Amino acid sequence: MKLKFIKTSSVEHVGIGARRGEIVTKIYECPCGKGIVTYEKDDIIGLKNSDVWCDCEECSEKYEFQRDGIAKKTTE
Ligand SMILES: [Zn+2]
Repeated sequence: MKLKFIKTSSVEHVGIGARRGEIVTKIYECPCGKGIVTYEKDDIIGLKNSDVWCDCEECSEKYEFQRDGIAKKTTE
């Protein structure tokens, strides 16, 4: 399922030495609507990283969150 997108924000990040980039954060509504899902992407040259987490315990257990606001039901 696709989560409801709330907002996006990017922070310019001064990396180590020549490694410069920005951190892009995208906020989505969690499947039950009580919490939020945060998707963070470090767009730093040579140090590409991304992370996604949900602050709603209920949904964290039921879903697996992926990039671009996609939530997958975990199989029991
Ligand atoms: Zn939830």
